[in-house]
Amino acid sequence: MTYKAEYIWIDGTSPTAKLRSKTRILADGAELPIWGFDGSSTNQAEGHASDRVLKPVASFPDPIRGGDDVLVMCEVFNIDGTPHESNTRAPLREVAEKFAAQESLFGIEQEYTFFQGSRPLGFPENGFPAPQGGYYCGVGADEIFGRPVVEKHLENCLAAGIGISGINAEVMPGQWEFQVGPLSPLEVSDHLWVARWLLYRTAEDFGVSATLDPKPAKGDWNGAGAHTNFSTRKMRESYDAIIEAAESLGRDDKPLEHIKNYGAGVEGRLTGAHETAPWNEYSYGVSNRGASVRIPWQVEVDQKGYIEDRRPNANVDPYVVTRLIVDTCGSALEKAGLV
Ligand code: ADP
Ligand code: MN
Ligand code: MN
Ligand code: MN
Repeated sequence: MTYKAEYIWIDGTSPTAKLRSKTRILADGAELPIWGFDGSSTNQAEGHASDRVLKPVASFPDPIRGGDDVLVMCEVFNIDGTPHESNTRAPLREVAEKFAAQESLFGIEQEYTFFQGSRPLGFPENGFPAPQGGYYCGVGADEIFGRPVVEKHLENCLAAGIGISGINAEVMPGQWEFQVGPLSPLEVSDHLWVARWLLYRTAEDFGVSATLDPKPAKGDWNGAGAHTNFSTRKMRESYDAIIEAAESLGRDDKPLEHIKNYGAGVEGRLTGAHETAPWNEYSYGVSNRGASVRIPWQVEVDQKGYIEDRRPNANVDPYVVTRLIVDTCGSALEKAGLV
């Protein structure tokens, strides 16, 4: 007998990489082998030497096919064994290892938008829906578009063992959010990429598409972000560590270094309007949804917990944002003796 393994990887499309996958039939009980693909079709190679290598790094029960079938998250390597330049997981492995003793945890809020044809789901064929105000966490057919897809996606994530922790309808019609975490940097990123794959795959069966476009509707409509919540063990114990982490993200050239890697089109979303801080001004504050980094009010009350970096775009690469935050905050906390 056999089982099916869906090998999933991140391609080399610029400026925002896409997910790809293909199916391998394996003998029952067989381990997941290293596999290959044609990198010239994924912006990962030139035609004359196009073999690229897929190395399984995490596997999940496949909730769509069921049975013993699995979803397999992979890293991409060159045939000489070096990580391919599109492989952003490889540098995260090193940084996560370096700061492992700090026990970093992340919870990422993934916002996204359903589309049908050229319009967000719920936008009328002509003109626009009623302005924002009633859609966020709303209920009713006049405000909610795509709930059956969202519920199916949630079920699929849970059946796959994704560390999903919640869902909600967002501020714009057809816009939704799910949260993954808290988990370690590598886990939260692997789980988020597979949850994204499941989102696209689930929506396929309903004839709608989902996009991580950070500004899916021009005009007075909220963009789509990926608020990244972060803590170390010390931050979960001490407010000094919370403040040091928030401060460290604003020091020297850190704001720009982070912003540049927080997803294509981030300047178009972080305008200062729609619950964002301007992309070129770093700020942090308690309870402040107009700041770059928010310290939740409960964290101030408890004098411990986590911080929320509100800047990352919906289309951010979680391997990149978690690496930058662990590196910046981890180094600063180490230097301050807050470990
Ligand atoms: P918001 O009020 O910003 O919409 P959400 O409830 O959507 O907040 O998301 C909060 C996220 O913070 C969740 O993903 C949760 O797992 C995460 N989180 C909670 N505690 C911690 C922690 N100590 N470290 C990192 N992430 C955390
Ligand atoms: Mn949220
Ligand atoms: Mn949100
Ligand atoms: Mn948030």
